[in-house]
Amino acid sequence: MNTGIRTALITGANRGIGLELTKQLTAKGYFVFMGVRDASKGAKALQFLEFPERAAVVELDVNDPVSVHRAVKEIGQASESLQILVNNAGVMNEDFMKDSTTGIAMEKLKKTFDTNFFGLVELTNSVLPLLLKSGEASILNISSNMGSLQLHSRQEPLARTFAYNASKAAVNMYTIHLANALRDQQVRVNAVHPGWVKTDMGSEYAPLEVNEAVGPLVDFLLQKDAPTGKFMFQGQEVEW
Ligand code: NDP
Repeated sequence: MNTGIRTALITGANRGIGLELTKQLTAKGYFVFMGVRDASKGAKALQFLEFPERAAVVELDVNDPVSVHRAVKEIGQASESLQILVNNAGVMNEDFMKDSTTGIAMEKLKKTFDTNFFGLVELTNSVLPLLLKSGEASILNISSNMGSLQLHSRQEPLARTFAYNASKAAVNMYTIHLANALRDQQVRVNAVHPGWVKTDMGSEYAPLEVNEAVGPLVDFLLQKDAPTGKFMFQGQEVEW
């Protein structure tokens, strides 16, 4: 790949927020490595892009260390550096309408953390050398206000999906740690709440269309003087 092309890796890029991020970043001239679990779903997703020549599908299951390391190697062979990592892949294995706190099955709790937290950390650490090579990079963790300890502690009416919320709170803590660890190395690390978005996870009842939710995320990602170590929603800070 030509040097000088700005590159991004987005996990869970075959649908929902990840696909829309891919659409918007490729429209802005980025080359996007679309991390997908299933290559055939990735091939279908490419058809939704206005500039499919600015994207490549990379098989990437964040739960599988072999897949993570293979994907990072593949990206490293195609591009000498990466400017952006968006940790978007996520799961909610609970019923949005029920409080799962007291009856949570350990398997469900572990599965949620495997994808939303452990997989995210493993991928980030693996891809970090490529991000550092770019000289100025940005990591965006797609979190949720449902991971906000402060909002929950005030008993604001957020869903009581315990495993999901706890996994996103862990992502928030990782965001702060990583931002501090990389503060002097030109890598910005932030968490964002995308809003309640009409996707398979967000459901048809969500008020935000996916393009409306993703526009502010892309603006924040590409903002020249963007901060590091923040938790943002549509340009405003969210309480941790
Ligand atoms: P979707 O359910 O529409 O998409 C989830 C994506 O994650 C899919 O591409 C899915 O791939 C991928 N994925 C799941 N598990 C893995 C894995 N192990 N490895 C790699 N990819 C995986 O969700 P959204 O687009 O709505 O959500 C994207 C992010 O935004 C998530 O982190 C979510 O928690 C967060 N979020 C969403 C909100 C909303 O209202 N929608 C609100 C707040 C936060 P596959 O197709 O193979 O299953």
